[in-house]
Amino acid sequence: MLSGKIALVTGGSRGLGREIALTMARQGADVAIVYNASDAAAQQVQQEIEAMGRRCCIYKCDVADFDAAKTLTDTVISEMGGVDILVNNAGIVRDGLLLSMKEEDFDRVLSVNLKGAFNLTKSLYRHLMKRSGARIINISSVVGLMGNAGQANYAAAKAGLIGFTKSVARELAARGVTCNAIAPGFIETDMTGALSDKVREGIAGQIPMKRMGAPADVAALAAFLASPAAGYITGEVIRVDGGMAM
Ligand code: NAP
Repeated sequence: MLSGKIALVTGGSRGLGREIALTMARQGADVAIVYNASDAAAQQVQQEIEAMGRRCCIYKCDVADFDAAKTLTDTVISEMGGVDILVNNAGIVRDGLLLSMKEEDFDRVLSVNLKGAFNLTKSLYRHLMKRSGARIINISSVVGLMGNAGQANYAAAKAGLIGFTKSVARELAARGVTCNAIAPGFIETDMTGALSDKVREGIAGQIPMKRMGAPADVAALAAFLASPAAGYITGEVIRVDGGMAM
């Protein structure tokens, strides 16, 4: 379904991004992985994708850095031959009730989770306009729809990403470029792995399906949105949350 396409996945070394990269590669895409610190994890994903017979390059870059993002995308275009699918997935949490939340924790979460998507999308904007059927997929969160005590910074970034998605979708629709957001609920990754069993049980109790999701649940949707079959879907926010936010 994605043969001949080149995907750039930020935060592709671990968790959801890793699974999205592997799933797109399985469907025929070559993949550029962007990560921040986990060299070994990124190399592991590269090996798995190359073992499928697909091309994969890995790039260490802080997506929050505007100039670094521009250099990164120029390098990816020159080394991989272009970008057809941009997945803005890199994200972090710095949780705390607003009363105790530090300014630097607010700024850093906004810089990585929201400005990171701006940096990559802006750097690739002209390029994507010229690629037939290009796709932008932003990984938001149900927390951006519902809010969550202790995550004012994260929820603000994820809600901002939804407004960003719809605006970019409107700007690029006439060019045949789609831009959609995925809003996962609670998915089993390192990000949620630090939660205690008690908290996890509490979360599962709020989910109609009574369980957390798997990265593959999100990756399947990302691959569909990247495919030609999804060419008339744009500006959407699709939850993958076991019914949590309906
Ligand atoms: P994760 O397991 O913690 O992985 C985060 C990924 O982002 C890693 O690959 C990490 O790279 C990368 N990253 C972090 N900061 C970066 C930066 N400044 N520049 C470049 N890359 C950076 O998280 P996850 O659970 O897979 O989450 C992925 C996305 O889904 C995030 O946007 C998150 O907010 C969203 N999401 C997750 C859930 C969930 O329940 N897990 C729910 C809703 C939304 P390194 O490996 O180098 O650190």
